[in-house]
Amino acid sequence: MAIPTSPKGPNLNAAAVVPAAGRGERLGPGAPKALRDLGGVPILVHAVRVLARSRAVGRVVVVAPADGVAEVRALLADALGERENAVLVVVPGGATRQESVRAGLAALPDDVDVVLVHDAARPLVPVDVVDAVARTVAEGAEAVVPAVPLADTVKQVGAPAVPGAPEPVLSTPDRSTLRAVQTPQGFRRDVLDRVHTKAVAEGVDATDDAGLVERFGGRVVVVPGHEEAFKVTRPLDLVLAEAVLARRRSRDEF
Ligand code: C5P
Repeated sequence: MAIPTSPKGPNLNAAAVVPAAGRGERLGPGAPKALRDLGGVPILVHAVRVLARSRAVGRVVVVAPADGVAEVRALLADALGERENAVLVVVPGGATRQESVRAGLAALPDDVDVVLVHDAARPLVPVDVVDAVARTVAEGAEAVVPAVPLADTVKQVGAPAVPGAPEPVLSTPDRSTLRAVQTPQGFRRDVLDRVHTKAVAEGVDATDDAGLVERFGGRVVVVPGHEEAFKVTRPLDLVLAEAVLARRRSRDEF
């Protein structure tokens, strides 16, 4: 499959896997998080659109709740344009994010050599971040994460002396060395396949894919993320996402 690429980057054959099979319970009762409305369309539609807009990405695999594949397929077919639908596949997910990513990887054609894993729950990531992650893998990194500096100081805490008592602070890591990690995370396809296979064999469950690469001795590098690539997790995040969208629309950014 020949993929058009950004004029600046080397040739890529990149695909995106979008785990969207979570229930999103921290957002409160209602539809699965990826299907919640944001500015008139489901959160997932925003995420798929931005990936499909990246010239590095030639295939998008959405991993839907196992009981919601037909619904997600119909919804995306309806909301997306012809070019976006042409690159889209929807497959059933698993019980954990890691299982869902694995299901997405299994659906990739053999000729894909770069994989971006992007949480459906980050609908407003700018396309420049997607391009930068893909480009950094194409230029030789085996694993790349977009990340931003922390606004808050972080404390490491221990278990309280008795249940319900205040947690004791154990340490304060130097904030300048910390980053909050976003998605899409980008990988050489062979590296991501290998760490997922190892994770199954060793019973390891990680909250992000780069964490698996680190755990099994790989090298992960950071590129600048973006404040608008935040994850919609709690009700307040939806309020913020609506505000970001309204600002973009008022500036006619898309
Ligand atoms: O729960 P959390 O916000 O960390 O989930 C991150 C992403 O992983 C979400 O896009 C969610 O839909 C996805 N996920 C999944 N399969 C699961 C659990 C979460 O695809 N079983």
